[in-house]
Amino acid sequence: MKISIIGTGYVGLVSGACFSEYGFDVTCVDNNADKVASLDRGEIPIFEPGLEALVAHNKQAGRLSFTSDIAAAVAGCDAVFIAVGTPERSEDGNADLSFLWQAVDEIADNLTAGTVVVTKSTVVVGTSAKIQAKIAAKRPELDFSMASNPEFLREGSALEDFMRPNRVVIGVHDERGREVMEHIYRPLSVRDAPLMFTSLQDAELIKYAANGFLAMKISFINEIADLCEKVSGNVQDVARGIGLDNRIGPKFLHAGPGYGGSCFPKDTKALAAMGRDHGSPIQLIEKVIEINDKRKPQMAERVLAGVGDPKGKVAAVLGIAFKPNTDDIRDAPSLTIIPLLQEAGLKIRASDPEAIDNAKAELPGVEWFENEYEAAEGADVLVILTEWNAYRGLDLERIKQHMRSPVIVDLRNIYPPGELAGTGFSYSSIGRPTLEQ
Ligand code: NAD
Repeated sequence: MKISIIGTGYVGLVSGACFSEYGFDVTCVDNNADKVASLDRGEIPIFEPGLEALVAHNKQAGRLSFTSDIAAAVAGCDAVFIAVGTPERSEDGNADLSFLWQAVDEIADNLTAGTVVVTKSTVVVGTSAKIQAKIAAKRPELDFSMASNPEFLREGSALEDFMRPNRVVIGVHDERGREVMEHIYRPLSVRDAPLMFTSLQDAELIKYAANGFLAMKISFINEIADLCEKVSGNVQDVARGIGLDNRIGPKFLHAGPGYGGSCFPKDTKALAAMGRDHGSPIQLIEKVIEINDKRKPQMAERVLAGVGDPKGKVAAVLGIAFKPNTDDIRDAPSLTIIPLLQEAGLKIRASDPEAIDNAKAELPGVEWFENEYEAAEGADVLVILTEWNAYRGLDLERIKQHMRSPVIVDLRNIYPPGELAGTGFSYSSIGRPTLEQ
């Protein structure tokens, strides 16, 4: 089985590494020549636990290679996966498919007979059918199949998610598409990952509906957290109490600064735009977007409330990445909250185990520290913005000695408030009682 993957980002590289681990012959293509060169040198351009070793192992075994030569990579493949970015289109919130159409143009010229073209990128409903029509128009003689195979992996646990998925959704158009995709995913299905075959458009819709639903759960618990604060409740107990109900489930019920990252913000907006475009507005998702957009400024206000007059004051921010175990900062809450704190007059000293290099250009004026204790030096407030494990067991006595005022604003609820009792810290978190000094 010969597979090419167009786009070697978080999804393309993880998919390529995992497919090659199952013994397939995989070529990862990217039009960013620097990225290809660094992958050829064995350098992984992103941080994802376990990925470096998996790539090295399969490269060495001769099953995984990298190139910018799309023509050579695509010819003779059983399947060509498209995994390029589909970011938000600034005009209307819909998905920007320009990278995808460029990739389709390039592969169309070089496909050989019998290949299945697979959309792995998250694309608006109807896109796979349009890709099929476009290739057919360009190459009327070509016998090819079309499939849609949206990806559900989470950054930070991408390998585990890819290799042990809850399900694999595969939209197909013909029998060959189904057979080839069944073959590719057989190593996963024998591990009890259900393969679900649907139409092309249902596969596309499943991806957006899943992300929209998860974003809705997050916004729901964030609003419950706000209510908890008004009535001296504890959102973690409430979340546990509802999450133990099988009909609800415990996941995505962690109150925090609002969802961010490379998927939920853009996918909720694209889902809402899709609903509007088709005359079927998805009002719940429209509201979720509004709630989430308002949440980040509210979090900045919360930090400012912790310092009083911001003039001459310093905030130490721990965590920039949108979630732990990734260096991805796309649409991270930090990118909205930190500039608002700076605008209000706070100086920012910040740290993150993996995201500093990516963050430097996005957050001008921030002083960067590898070490969280150094970041805390002279700070009037310590803000926990990403729940990295390294922040869960901080030596709080040592942090306090570095700070000018012992104030912690924990936007991820990583400490039980009781643990801070008697330490001299003021500690506020999300949807839980505040601890005064
Ligand atoms: P990414 O930005 O990390 O990677 C995209 C890659 O495609 C880049 O390396 C870029 O150089 C390359 N590229 C763009 N146009 C190209 C072309 N014409 N030819 C060759 N290469 C090209 O994106 P990502 O995070 O991997 O996301 C890819 C898709 O997967 C998106 O649609 C996204 O919504 C979806 N997705 C992402 C995640 C995630 O956690 N990142 C999870 C599930 C689904």
